[in-house]
Parts: sequence; structure tokens; C-alpha cells
Amino acid sequence: MSDREAAPGALGLIQAFVNTADLEPSVEALSDPHALRGWLVERGLMALNQPATDADLKHAVAVREAIRGAIGANSGGSVYPVDIATLNGAVSASRLIPRFGSNGKARLEPQASGVDGALGRIVAAVFAAMNEEAWTRLKLCDSSSCRWAFYDQSRNHSSRWCRMASCGNRQKAKRFRERAKTS
Ligand SMILES: [Zn+2]
Repeated sequence: MSDREAAPGALGLIQAFVNTADLEPSVEALSDPHALRGWLVERGLMALNQPATDADLKHAVAVREAIRGAIGANSGGSVYPVDIATLNGAVSASRLIPRFGSNGKARLEPQASGVDGALGRIVAAVFAAMNEEAWTRLKLCDSSSCRWAFYDQSRNHSSRWCRMASCGNRQKAKRFRERAKTS
């Protein structure tokens, strides 16, 4: 099994968004409003002619970290009230409403445009994903210095690290050292 595989379908979008912050090495893909707009336009979440401001960037990063928190629940973490409030805030700001598409299926669509609308599309993807079994396979790496969102392909949903070779072994070594210190 190769490491850090992309999750399928809409889960892949959620995963890619959360992983725009890579803590190891510290890489922030959403470094300024221009980068944020580029990322959202590239994925068809927002029209090219719409602006992105500093406030939009702050909001986008908050929503991203709230989604990271929600994914953390799949790996045994608890979701903080501030993350819930941020997700509900994004739902309100983007004015998500249910719409029936031409295929007869219903989905949530944002009434807002711009960055708010784009974030609404990502939150709508989270909403849809949570109703699928595959959602529980999207987890956060157990290495406290990594926190990468990875797709757990193991048969019994037991993977804890995005990369066993680096994160897994390092975390095990850390615990070994901590145990050695206290004994
Ligand atoms: Zn990791």
C-alpha cells in the first residue's frame, strides 16, 4: 500500500482543502488572498472574475481548520464547539439550500457567490460525505506534528498515520522515549 493516497470523489476535494496546510515541512498553500482565489478557481468552486480579500482568507483558513477538526472525530478526537460554530457560520454565509439537479438527485447548493459560495461548496461536500460510509476512512495523522488528512485504505480501518515510515515510526520512538523517562 502506498502512502498518502488521495481519497476518492468529493472526499478527495475535502482532503485536498484540509491539506493545503502541510505542517511537515511547514507549507501553507493558502498564503495570501491571491493564492486562495487561484486554488478555488482551479477546482471550479468559484468564478475567475470574483475577488478574494484578506477577510475571505481568514474565513477560509478557519473553515479549513474546522473541517480538520470534524475529520479528527474519525480518528477518535473530539470536535470543539468553535469548529461547529465555524462550520455553521459557513453554511449561513454561503446560504446553502437543497436543490434537485437534472439527474433527479438533491444536493446542497450555495446561493452566495465568491469565496463564501466556494467555501459553501466545500462544506456541502462535507455534508454529503458524512452520509457515506467512506467518510469514516478520512482521518487525521496521529503524529501531533503532522495532522495530515489521509484516507485509510486498511481493511479494518485501523491506520493511524499518513506514512508509517516517517510519522508512525517517529511517534513510536517518541512514546518509547517518554516511557523510558518515566520508568
Ligand atoms: Zn503524518
